[in-house]
Amino acid sequence: MKAGHRGVNVIQRILRNHGLRATPQRLAVGGMVLSRPVHVTARAVWEALRKTHPAISMNTVYQTLGQFEAQGLLQRLEVGGVTVFDSNTTPHDHACCESCGAIEDVPAAGDTSGSCPRPPEEGASGWPAGWKLTGVRRVWLGLCPACRASGGEGAPPA
Ligand SMILES: [Zn+2]
Ligand SMILES: [Zn+2]
Repeated sequence: MKAGHRGVNVIQRILRNHGLRATPQRLAVGGMVLSRPVHVTARAVWEALRKTHPAISMNTVYQTLGQFEAQGLLQRLEVGGVTVFDSNTTPHDHACCESCGAIEDVPAAGDTSGSCPRPPEEGASGWPAGWKLTGVRRVWLGLCPACRASGGEGAPPA
């Protein structure tokens, strides 16, 4: 029995519903990123899969994640210059720990009443001309609970 095979039927169904053939690579990558909410880099997925799929290449993992993104199964974020794939595709902001890099979903700022922040009108002063702005994604920087607890906040050691 291989670990990580639970939910393979679910992944197969998700792939089929999005017009993707359930190849072994897609099932392997999908099992890591589509079975639960995650924020992962292509490298982290590759390093985790390498143990059970020695033949899988970093390039295959990256391409597969891109195919999932193109089908709306993932969204891509840039956090601190790193590309992170997010399996939560609903609009939301992120909190990123400046100490360990942990990323967590947080509600979209200014969205407490259920209405999204409005983009400025086209040509509004101070905004570059010619752009049609449709939305904003924010990354809040801070310290995660684990790093705060371990003194990352600058607290003197006990
Ligand atoms: Zn942290
Ligand atoms: Zn997210």
